[in-house]
Amino acid sequence: MKYDYLVVGAGLFGAVFAHEMAAKGKSVLVIDRRDHVGGNIYTENRMGINVHKYGAHIFHTSDREVWDYINGFAEFNGYINSPVAVYKDELYNLPFNMNTFSRMWGIKTPDEAKAIISSQADEEIARINHEKNTDTFTADNLEEQALSLAGRDIYEKLVKGYTEKQWGRDCRDLPAFIIKRLPMRFIYDNNYFNDRYQGIPMGGYTAMIEKLLDGISVKCGVNYYDYMKLEDGLPVRPFESRDGDSFGRILFTGMIDEFFGYELGTLEYRSLKFETEDLPEVDNYQGNAVVNYTEREVPYTRIIEHKHFEYGDGKGTIITREYPANWKHGDEPYYPMNDDKNNALYERYQERAKGFEGVLFGGRLGQYKYYNMDQVIRQALDMSRAEA
Ligand SMILES: Cc1cc2nc3c(=O)[nH]c(=O)nc-3n(C[C@H](O)[C@H](O)[C@H](O)COP(=O)(O)OP(=O)(O)OC[C@H]3O[C@@H](n4cnc5c(N)ncnc54)[C@H](O)[C@@H]3O)c2cc1C
Repeated sequence: MKYDYLVVGAGLFGAVFAHEMAAKGKSVLVIDRRDHVGGNIYTENRMGINVHKYGAHIFHTSDREVWDYINGFAEFNGYINSPVAVYKDELYNLPFNMNTFSRMWGIKTPDEAKAIISSQADEEIARINHEKNTDTFTADNLEEQALSLAGRDIYEKLVKGYTEKQWGRDCRDLPAFIIKRLPMRFIYDNNYFNDRYQGIPMGGYTAMIEKLLDGISVKCGVNYYDYMKLEDGLPVRPFESRDGDSFGRILFTGMIDEFFGYELGTLEYRSLKFETEDLPEVDNYQGNAVVNYTEREVPYTRIIEHKHFEYGDGKGTIITREYPANWKHGDEPYYPMNDDKNNALYERYQERAKGFEGVLFGGRLGQYKYYNMDQVIRQALDMSRAEA
């Protein structure tokens, strides 16, 4: 077969791009090395529950065009993300809002909350300045930054342990810039996101991706590096697979450094480990889809109870404990480490890619950026529109 496009990766980026190119009348083949479509938003239905296999995903956007677009492939259920945080035997609403402050200090009004936060923050700034023998405050690490923004109570109970687990490092060893600000709401509102549109696709993300890929040739369980004819690890024109298919152009949504054989070095990621438990005898484990554990001593950062994303009220439940993990070759690369060192290396790969005719790089691995789903759709739409 002669295809106009080979799309490597059946995740959200690949699926939107493939759909748009097929709609323009182009022939497209999509391959993915996993045995399913959907990439990281893949959901697996068990016990009538859509399990978010690679981490909890809540769709949210303020981009009206993206929202209208994706609603063409799924009906969204209006779910509002309202996580809860557990610290020892205390329970707080997130994001930081009047419910959180009221529970923490037994207060009722925004003025009372603001007064406590600013007095605790001022106290910390004075203490840090005193220790450094200066009058001008600068945060030298994440701990100082968070204390200066939110004061001791919020930092100790809701920021410190969670952040240390996420990064695998003490807050005093993390750079201040990671926390530019700590969003706080002085209203009683537990909606985590500020976006205008939000929800979970009814029936799961996999069905949404399948609809995007409807009528398009897809091969799962196919690794690009085994599938393609390569010379010195790179494809040569005309792009051909080992079994004789040919392609005009390639969209690659895998890791850009892997594509180039790591010739300039390895980009780094943070990874995650998921521990999923089916609980057929329990109908409601924690009463909320997302519960964060903010103490450092609890090894996981959160427990997801999947049925609550879709207001499930059937028998049994499924929970997933999420553990942050260091990443090494062969692990699932979840979060790009967008620090100066890695961004500089990515820019060099980007230059390399510009000189490589016929191959486009897209998505969170191809563009080495943490993208939310709405940003992925926006980028994929823009890229497909730029194609002839
Ligand atoms: C834990 C977690 C939670 C998240 N939660 C949210 C959320 O709540 N809301 C939100 O908007 N966003 C969230 N995101 C972001 C969201 O997951 C991404 O925006 C989206 O999945 C990226 O899609 P993608 O197509 O770029 O990448 P991917 O989904 O990773 O797809 C890339 C695909 O390429 C395939 N591939 C790679 N290399 C090869 C190869 N050599 N050969 C063949 N196939 C290959 C992979 O198998 C994969 O299927 C979250 C991310 C994580 C990690």
